[in-house]
Amino acid sequence: MKKIIIANWKMNPPSPKEAQAIFAKVKGRAARLSGVETVIAPPFVFLPILKSGGKIKLAAQDVAKDDGGPWTGEVSARMVKGLGASYAIIGHSERRELGEGDEVVREKLYQSLSRGIKSVLCVGEKEKSQEVFPHIVRDEIKKALRGIPKYFASKTIIAYEPVWAISSHSKGKADTPQNFFEMSIFIRRTVLDVWGKLAALRLPIIYGGSVNAKNARGFLEVDGGAGVLVGKASLDAREFNKILEIANTI
Ligand code: PEP
Repeated sequence: MKKIIIANWKMNPPSPKEAQAIFAKVKGRAARLSGVETVIAPPFVFLPILKSGGKIKLAAQDVAKDDGGPWTGEVSARMVKGLGASYAIIGHSERRELGEGDEVVREKLYQSLSRGIKSVLCVGEKEKSQEVFPHIVRDEIKKALRGIPKYFASKTIIAYEPVWAISSHSKGKADTPQNFFEMSIFIRRTVLDVWGKLAALRLPIIYGGSVNAKNARGFLEVDGGAGVLVGKASLDAREFNKILEIANTI
């Protein structure tokens, strides 16, 4: 199975020119790596200028909860698909922080999957000290998947992103591969309750939170782990390319 490496550029870089420059460097490297599914999630406005193709896939960082209509500032799954995005990030903690609740995440996931987009559902607890954190993750998954037909399972990816581990968090420090391993088992069990055994076994589960070229190998080698979601380090093409190279060897 190819490792899935997703670059989440967030609201970066500031100009189309810089976006094209990072993209070109990553595209060149990705073209030589057969063991990696390389995905870049730029801001919406850069989707039309960054052409997918070759070994690189484009992702939207979000989609609207509706397919069209009076939603100022929103961008639909249909629109991003039309611009070449074959992946979408859904329910990122930075969106949840802006007030996106579980029901909205569910609607967005449904919209994205309905358009045939591979949808990366982000889940994760806010504080490291939260003793009940597996239950928080289970709750997020169950609420997001409620009513989503099982036949969408093959297009669903779950990203375990503990919020405290994200680099922009005040204490942002990567989780451990061991914890990711344990969480991936827990996530699979949760998906089993909703979609059954086959879907749970096949579900790609990736890790996100302060991944860089130094620590990526640990997460990529986790048994049952399918890849990583990379924020800050993905804006440095050299660093991101190193992560791609490592993934290609596993
Ligand atoms: C993210 O926010 O999705 C993320 C993985 O960020 P970082 O790698 O910067 O922690």
